[in-house]
Amino acid sequence: MDVAAQIPKCGVLLRHDLDIGLDLAFEMAKLEKAEGIRSTYFVMVSNPLYNVRSKGNIDIIRWLADNDFNVGLHFDPSIYETRDADGLIDYACEEARILSGIAGRNVNALSFHMPSKYGMIQKLGSFQVAYDERYFNDAIYMSDSQMSFRHKKPYEFIHKASERLIQILLHPFFYSISAKDAQLPDLNTAAMLSKLDLVREALATLNLLRGGEFESLAARLTQQTGNVL
Ligand SMILES: [Zn+2]
Repeated sequence: MDVAAQIPKCGVLLRHDLDIGLDLAFEMAKLEKAEGIRSTYFVMVSNPLYNVRSKGNIDIIRWLADNDFNVGLHFDPSIYETRDADGLIDYACEEARILSGIAGRNVNALSFHMPSKYGMIQKLGSFQVAYDERYFNDAIYMSDSQMSFRHKKPYEFIHKASERLIQILLHPFFYSISAKDAQLPDLNTAAMLSKLDLVREALATLNLLRGGEFESLAARLTQQTGNVL
């Protein structure tokens, strides 16, 4: 979603928000590269499930940037004490600086994490916000949130791109494993037990994204650890 200079009149702004990790995004990006597609990968700096500065994730982010994918910031305002744009701008800039340093290029595209829950902000300083009205309204936007395109039909919707600019959000995680195949984390280690709040938050996020699919996993973990998750 490189809209830095001029906004094209038609085409697809293909966007991926990375809520779970980067490994599956890397797989998706390789598929896109083979098809000549260039999209924007929105990476979180404050995600409880992945470390943006781990060696493996740094390698993936650099690979994306080096292969002409756009790297954007997936910003979670809920971790800060303020919800309005004026209060959030410094935090967003700080996170974007971190991501820019990793990507080796300026990060100026931003998408909000769970805007329906934490508020829809359309403008934030000089960031190109994915929810800007120029490329976000019901007629031109389609998302696979909670594994549903709602009332939209992807193969019909895509035809709009020949006449106008549309935005499509796909989460790489939805096109891979299911909760049934998910590995049961080892929660018996002292380190994991000390992070139950984090695990609880991660499971809540997964359930929200996957329409409650992870409730059974939470129940299994509760049984295994004797802690309510
Ligand atoms: Zn998100």
